[in-house]
Amino acid sequence: MQRTHDIYRPIDERTCDWREVERMLSDAELQEQTSRCMNCGQPFCHAYGCPLGNLVPDQNRAVAQGDWRRAFALLSANSDFPEFTSRICPALCEASCVHGLDEESVMVRQSEKRIIETAFANGWVTPRPPEKENGKSAAVIGAGPAGLSAAVTLRRKGWAVTVYEKRANVGGLLRYGIPCFKLDKSLIDRRRAILEAEGVRFVTGIEVGKDISAEWLAKQNDAVVVAIGTPAARDLKIPGRHLPGIHLALELLEGQNRFLTGEIAAPPIDAKGKDVLVIGGGDTGSDCVGTAIRHGAKSVTQIEIMPRPPDERSDSTPWPLWPYMLRTSSSHKEGCVRRWNLNSVRFVGENHVQGVEVERVVWTQSPEGRPLKFAAATDSREVIPADLVFLAMGFTGVPADMPLVAQLGLKQTPRTALVSDLSRKIFCVGDCASGASLVVRALASGKTIPLD
Ligand SMILES: Cc1cc2nc3c(=O)[nH]c(=O)nc-3n(C[C@H](O)[C@H](O)[C@H](O)COP(=O)(O)OP(=O)(O)OC[C@H]3O[C@@H](n4cnc5c(N)ncnc54)[C@H](O)[C@@H]3O)c2cc1C
Repeated sequence: MQRTHDIYRPIDERTCDWREVERMLSDAELQEQTSRCMNCGQPFCHAYGCPLGNLVPDQNRAVAQGDWRRAFALLSANSDFPEFTSRICPALCEASCVHGLDEESVMVRQSEKRIIETAFANGWVTPRPPEKENGKSAAVIGAGPAGLSAAVTLRRKGWAVTVYEKRANVGGLLRYGIPCFKLDKSLIDRRRAILEAEGVRFVTGIEVGKDISAEWLAKQNDAVVVAIGTPAARDLKIPGRHLPGIHLALELLEGQNRFLTGEIAAPPIDAKGKDVLVIGGGDTGSDCVGTAIRHGAKSVTQIEIMPRPPDERSDSTPWPLWPYMLRTSSSHKEGCVRRWNLNSVRFVGENHVQGVEVERVVWTQSPEGRPLKFAAATDSREVIPADLVFLAMGFTGVPADMPLVAQLGLKQTPRTALVSDLSRKIFCVGDCASGASLVVRALASGKTIPLD
């Protein structure tokens, strides 16, 4: 039996709406898929791949046997937010599946989605408040996945937890970055209600460091958790950057999500009928592609300075490492031109951007095929026409001049990540401590706070 790839709604249908692109696989399909699991004696999926240490083989067996209640008990043993990871996790567990050595890995993420949705539908997901209060309080700054995970972990140990969030609602990039067509935002509301029933308090619309002092919070509480993400997006400071029509990716993505969830009356950017260029070949860029396509863009092109990765796992990342290889997202399949080895030199236009001048670059590679350094190819310049440009080139970390950083006296690594101060019970978790990463890593990080 083979792994199925039939997991998406049809392109013609899904590009006309903002609902999740993935369909829900049936019980029967998932029983068949999970029965491919070999229940390895040394389960790399669980022990190496999944940052949460999910009990993947046992869970697979429960699904294969149709025992959804047991599957839910196993899944929720380590995972507090499976409804999020089962939609948007790149499935590190699948990349380290032993089956992946000779054929395709076992499907895990989609079965987790069915487990958690079956659990919600049957009323098995209930608030789990602590049996007794421990009399101590913690302030969590930031309500992204890392902050939510820290909040639920401390609360279940009996801490009185208040989460402070500068935006209007909770979720961090789950709500304000990742598009609705990957993660429906009602799932965050559903989980927030459970956390509140467990006793977690949310204070939204308050920026710590500006609206209230972080120092004051530290004095008022027995512990402080800093989970503020990586707020600074990498910009592209080349000539013409000032031209209208050039935006950071999150201006598009956050605006669209805020519009779709009713926070604002209209999306701030409309790509309808436009030639759209996305600079940056990663996931954020791919989310811009899917968003522009749903707006009805005339054309969508995504460019990347790095070379095209190989179609198969590169020798530089042997199993069970996360493979360096070409990734084609559901958004790419909806209709976009992808180009590699292109360095952006300047934006072209007078009163509005009209295109980007690029030059081709040639990469020197390591013996295992990893790109090392590049040089511009001669006579390779061209202008790619565009009336909307989105910059999706990652994040630069935590700016040192954020008031919160000074108020808490936090140290930063050379790459500007925040460092916990255990002696003062100030814990930094998620992207702000690791650099921009993944939801599952942020969730795992929130569970690691060494407090009873
Ligand atoms: C467009 C996009 C798509 C992505 N897609 C995926 C994906 O498909 N799968 C995946 O695994 N990962 C994805 N990621 C990465 C993932 O979203 C992050 O790794 C994860 O959200 C980090 O969680 P966090 O809690 O550390 O930070 P965040 O999610 O950034 O949350 C930080 C929170 O802190 C709040 N905050 C900041 N400063 C303050 C302050 N001073 N006071 C109060 N609140 C404050 C912010 O408003 C925010 O709500 C994506 C990222 C982006 C940008």
